[in-house]
Amino acid sequence: MPSLAAKIEKRLEPRLEERLEQAYRTRYLHSDTIIAKLMAAFWVAVNLFFVSVDFVVLGLGPTLLQALIVRAVILLFVSLYILRLSRSISPADYDRSTLVIWLIASACVLYLQAFTRPPTYINYYTVDILIVMSMYVVVPGTFWNRVIPALLYTVGHFAIFLLVKKVDQPAVYLIFFASFLIVNVIGLYFSTRYYTSRRQEFLGRRQDAATREKLAELANRDELTGALNRRGFFSRAEEEFAVRALQDTPLTICAIDIDYFKAVNDTFGHHAGDEALKTFSAHVRGASREGDCFGRTGGEEFALLLPRTDGKKALAIAERLRRQCRRLFNTSENPGLGFTVSIGVAQAIPGDKTVYDLYRRADKALYAAKGGGRDQVRLSAEQ
Ligand code: GH3
Ligand code: MG
Ligand code: MG
Repeated sequence: MPSLAAKIEKRLEPRLEERLEQAYRTRYLHSDTIIAKLMAAFWVAVNLFFVSVDFVVLGLGPTLLQALIVRAVILLFVSLYILRLSRSISPADYDRSTLVIWLIASACVLYLQAFTRPPTYINYYTVDILIVMSMYVVVPGTFWNRVIPALLYTVGHFAIFLLVKKVDQPAVYLIFFASFLIVNVIGLYFSTRYYTSRRQEFLGRRQDAATREKLAELANRDELTGALNRRGFFSRAEEEFAVRALQDTPLTICAIDIDYFKAVNDTFGHHAGDEALKTFSAHVRGASREGDCFGRTGGEEFALLLPRTDGKKALAIAERLRRQCRRLFNTSENPGLGFTVSIGVAQAIPGDKTVYDLYRRADKALYAAKGGGRDQVRLSAEQ
């Protein structure tokens, strides 16, 4: 039986692959619960309105009391349902609660039909048709969460007419049968189409978002070294600068420039120069902590952003990097290809209005390092 149910569902309204289906459900859970709550409140109002019908049909008496008790039960459970949906719940909880409330409300309404309405009342089942429609297309639900309550409700009505009311009018049965058939077919058709296209829309949006993310990533990465490019670096740096202002944590930038890189190109060739840029970049990224941000700001110029790091600590990091640099390139493939870097370090100060002010100070310190003979680290004079 479960495999038959799965086959029917797969044929009429195929789910997505498990992980995607979960993401899809979670994406729509918030709006689904809002619709379900609104519908529940609406049916509570309808239920209260039908108290007036109970008075008209039943007059004062014990049957009216019975009807009022059943309506109170509906009111109670639907209110509990609304409360449940007002808490944060998972899609599975939503499905369970919605199925349970439909079954309880259906049982109550079927009871009212069977035991508090006279046999002559059978021509007034328009509301029941609307309830079935609501089960399919108004309250959001998974395939079986819509189909099970609608079919049980339909079968319940047939059972009442055949076993309880025993109406002796074939035309009534035929119209009744036709009406419930139509509402079930239309409800099933439109709801399965709607949820199938909603899944497709979800997949489309997901794909768009992934493409946008990829494009943004490409736009922010330097092709040669894989480090952030200037634009990517400064956009991250701006974010960190804003965080620093909010959290009052230190933030430091190291501006790095390879010394006499032109000579490296001239001596070893442009290709070796490119390889050296890649190796240097990979080394710094490998040595960085999570949260640090490394970018190529120019040809042989780089910048390292160190959040939650003060100038003193950054100076030590930069010094270590400078020392490692010489060994980095002097490989068996390129013996003699050793070069040095100059680094300027600046910690953000209250006078820095933007991250570019901070960077400018780091750059100034870098030029002081160059002027001081290269292969050295300098801390910005304005700290
Ligand atoms: P300084 O110590 O003053 O920084 O000297 P420098 O030679 O490093 O500086 P300069 O600005 O004179 O030269 C930078 C060189 O970097 C020139 C250029 O050929 C090289 N360069 C820039 N981008 C690339 C690149 O993508 N690949 C290679 N191989 N070289 C590059
Ligand atoms: Mg240089
Ligand atoms: Mg330069």
